[in-house]
Amino acid sequence: MDEIIVGIDLGTTNSEIAIVENGKVAIIEDSGRKILPSFVGISDNDEILVGESAKNQYILYPEKTIKSIKRKMGEEDRIEMAEKFYTPQEISAIILKRLKNIAENYINKSISKAVITVPAYFSDAQRQATREAGEIAGLEVVRMINEPTAAALSYETENKKHILVYDLGGGTFDVSIVNIEDGVVEVVASHGNNKLGGDDFDQKIADHIVEYIQNQFAVDIRKSRKAMARINRAAETAKRMLSDQPFTIIEEEYLYEYKGKSINLSLELARNDYEKMIVDYIDETLEAVHVALNGAGLTVADIDEILLVGGSTRTPIVSKRLYQEFQKQPRIEVDPDLCVAAGAAIQAAIIAGQEISGSAVLVDITPYTYGTSAVGELNGEFYPCMYVPIIYKNSPLPLSKTELFFTMVDNQKIIEIKIYQGEDKDALNNIQIGEFIVEGLSEAPANSPILLKLELDLNGILSVSAIEKTTGFKKSITIDNVISRFEVDEMQHAKERIQEIFGEKVEKTSETDEIINNAKILIEKAEQLLDNASTEDKEDIVDMIEAINDAISTDNLTVLNESMGQLSDIIYYLES
Ligand code: AMP
Repeated sequence: MDEIIVGIDLGTTNSEIAIVENGKVAIIEDSGRKILPSFVGISDNDEILVGESAKNQYILYPEKTIKSIKRKMGEEDRIEMAEKFYTPQEISAIILKRLKNIAENYINKSISKAVITVPAYFSDAQRQATREAGEIAGLEVVRMINEPTAAALSYETENKKHILVYDLGGGTFDVSIVNIEDGVVEVVASHGNNKLGGDDFDQKIADHIVEYIQNQFAVDIRKSRKAMARINRAAETAKRMLSDQPFTIIEEEYLYEYKGKSINLSLELARNDYEKMIVDYIDETLEAVHVALNGAGLTVADIDEILLVGGSTRTPIVSKRLYQEFQKQPRIEVDPDLCVAAGAAIQAAIIAGQEISGSAVLVDITPYTYGTSAVGELNGEFYPCMYVPIIYKNSPLPLSKTELFFTMVDNQKIIEIKIYQGEDKDALNNIQIGEFIVEGLSEAPANSPILLKLELDLNGILSVSAIEKTTGFKKSITIDNVISRFEVDEMQHAKERIQEIFGEKVEKTSETDEIINNAKILIEKAEQLLDNASTEDKEDIVDMIEAINDAISTDNLTVLNESMGQLSDIIYYLES
């Protein structure tokens, strides 16, 4: 076997790594455990902790520990851990790097390629952030596949079947309708919510505990980060207990000290009451099930099997409600925690050209409709932002669609193109995911044709190009580039940071060194100007120098670049 591509389930709560060995999937264990909790932390001795150890210190040091980072993927936020700030990509990269190390130890070879699963309902920005996390961790993400699709791949069935994959994890919910026939796994429709999962159930119980403490002890416990970390953990434990028993007692001794008295929590929670707390969420998942069924042009009676994926499907109300809806008992044949990683490994093996028993061809779809806006009519009236869908949800990947548009005025030089995700007739009610301007059109009368081409690759990532039909003049973007693409130097910097965290030898790039050097030269220059500057300018300069020094010590290249720009402006102004 030449090249090994690993399959990774990068989950909100837990992550796993798998490979195909001798034609069979192996989930790789670390110290006897197949599951790595998706927790990252910094220990007392400033060492990086990933997995179980980070999860264990979460209660003691919530400020030094990060959980559920997947929920922040694709956002611009930076997250604080032990007084340093990290992008969601960097934290996910730490988890990926640990998984990579676990697999490398197991096969005794270095690994550089992976298939990573993402929720079917992940947006472009979230997918791109996942790919960036891989890159930071030193893994080329050769394919991203949707989690429910991966689950279906790991599910062996001989006959032609319509399967409903209901995937409720820690932070996301997806439902997919999958056809399996002659070894071809074809996703025909999918729907979901990438911000709904078991974490929300925990939150409901935690809110209930907070309210109880408020009523019982007149204390707002939310002010204590430590107490809240314990409450969140107790809430999750209670939730799991309620999957197996009708009642549980939530007990936390010495939870909080208040006016010299300690609060000892002891609160009974019944499954019935818990189910009432989460019923709206469960209803929402069932509505999504019907949207997916409609999308597939199927009815409840057409579904042969219901496959449950994700830890939260162990909540009994999930199976109960699905049974009521379908008159069919959902099946958990493959371990719901491991089948996604198993499917990723199967896809990875197929890409690597490995021999694999019952190998399947995978056909995946886009869960979103994409389009642009144009002048048109909405509800019988002239409207400048009418939505023009171009790629429809549930279309198989990869695909490319082109639509014809026309310039508005004679000699029009510029067209502004906005790309939206959604289905509302009014473009402004959809999510704008990209925008670009095409300049330099040839002189032509109004109504000259412009072709707008939207392409989705196998990973569900969108590229857009506009072409002037008569001249062939073309302008293109990849949507995720516009939203969250790291600058090249930021990517390199992130890689170095993560290598440093893992105690690996880091060859600092001259690029990063150069930026820091320039910052130091700039500070020297600014300090020379201090004597002759007005009080106001002096204050500004001192603030900027402080911001630059902070950015250097916290490794924040974005803030560093920004602050250097501002200090340069002041210097330029004082010198001119
Ligand atoms: P996943 O993202 O698939 O790893 O799912 C993790 C989620 O499943 C977390 O929210 C867990 O709290 C939840 N979970 C795990 N075991 C159980 C259980 N026995 N009952 C209810 N929820 C569970």
